[in-house]
Amino acid sequence: MADNPEVEKSETCCCIVGGGPAGMMLGFLLARAGVRVEVLEKHADFLRDFRGDTIHLSTLELMHELGILAEFLKRPHNELREVSVLIGGEEMTIGDFTHLPTHCKFIAFMPQWDFLNFIVDQTRSLPNFRLRMQSEVMGLVQEGGRVAGVRAKTPAGGIEVRADLVVGCDGRHSLVRKSAGLVVDDLGAPMDVLWMRLSKRPGDPTQSLGRVASGAILIMFERGDYWQCGFVIPKGGIDEIREKGLPAFQVRLAEFAPVLVGRVAELDTWDKIKLLTVTVDCLRGWHKPGLLCIGDAAHAMSPIGGVGINLAIQDAVAASNILAAPLLARTVNNDCLDAVQRRRRLPTRLTQRMQLFLQDKVIVRVLGAEKAIRVPLVFRMLQHWPVLRRIPARVMGVGFRPEHVRTRPAAR
Ligand SMILES: Cc1cc2nc3c(=O)[nH]c(=O)nc-3n(C[C@H](O)[C@H](O)[C@H](O)COP(=O)(O)OP(=O)(O)OC[C@H]3O[C@@H](n4cnc5c(N)ncnc54)[C@H](O)[C@@H]3O)c2cc1C
Repeated sequence: MADNPEVEKSETCCCIVGGGPAGMMLGFLLARAGVRVEVLEKHADFLRDFRGDTIHLSTLELMHELGILAEFLKRPHNELREVSVLIGGEEMTIGDFTHLPTHCKFIAFMPQWDFLNFIVDQTRSLPNFRLRMQSEVMGLVQEGGRVAGVRAKTPAGGIEVRADLVVGCDGRHSLVRKSAGLVVDDLGAPMDVLWMRLSKRPGDPTQSLGRVASGAILIMFERGDYWQCGFVIPKGGIDEIREKGLPAFQVRLAEFAPVLVGRVAELDTWDKIKLLTVTVDCLRGWHKPGLLCIGDAAHAMSPIGGVGINLAIQDAVAASNILAAPLLARTVNNDCLDAVQRRRRLPTRLTQRMQLFLQDKVIVRVLGAEKAIRVPLVFRMLQHWPVLRRIPARVMGVGFRPEHVRTRPAAR
């Protein structure tokens, strides 16, 4: 095909598609190690809808290893040291982070856009790093049976970025994985989540909380002067909720969480209620010649445990540890890409298995319940023996096979 002179062409070593937690962290770590990197992000900025804002202990520990933790903690955030749920009116503490062997003994809550801007700040002194905002990847360049780059559109016109390696970090609706023909296994999710903001008032609970009662689950994240609320509904249940109308939904919410009475009227349009269609899936193979997928693009996670951001970051750390040297030597091959998949597939599978178990055994029962919910025995045990609360805290806060930064900053 003839070259289109209108298309701006460039070459780099690693082209990352998507500037979410996985893409930004991978770009930062590779550029820090001396690899030439371009990150293409379709949006103009990171200031978007709520996308989750939990920075878990494993991620905070990585920041400690990178020497940027103190700087990070200067940014506005909230700290969660225990996880509590209200089950049928009874408050129960089910996770305690304060005994874990990490530098920070809490989950930090920070809007995702602030976290991503923080990572961007860390890349400013790295000459090898280039972030192109408003650059939407539209397809892959494939040559001789391998992926050789991407085509994207920008406000200034089309671009083509050629690279030794393309990494798809473009999230759960990944165009990269679709264009590459990678096979996705859908693992199923019985619920969706409605996300909304409600103002905080004097006398409100002092920290984030989950409420569980027959027919529904509500999660309330404390965010300074407002609550970020997630209302869990049966899969596809949004149609019935909409049919009944907004006033009926306001009443349902106020009945479910009386603490919110008097402010549910703030939800005066459906635009203020965002639907998260929950998906749990995993790629059968995460790579093909010249291409690797990580983060949600390789495995969309259930919101249970709020671990999506942190798994995406763990993938990025593992990928940079394994790939930095071969990228610098320009010897990246399928074996290296397979090593990333082998390293990250087990922790991903274990986490998803646990999420599927909780979805099937707890969420489905709660959402389908018509009578009052009985507190599960395991929750009672956690109240009797507080030491046991360290186990769920470890699984949630640190996860399986935590990664450590093995790359060194390149000499400059
Ligand atoms: C409503 C909601 C609440 C959530 N709550 C939590 C939570 O509390 N805790 C938690 O850990 N996780 C949460 N998650 C999940 C979490 O957001 C994801 O798991 C995490 O962001 C995955 O990171 P990622 O970098 O792989 O993908 P994403 O964060 O999805 O980033 C993908 C990036 O790629 C860009 N992109 C997409 N297509 C293209 C393209 N063609 N060209 C260029 N750029 C492209 C997107 O604009 C985006 O910036 C939540 C998700 C949602 C939707």
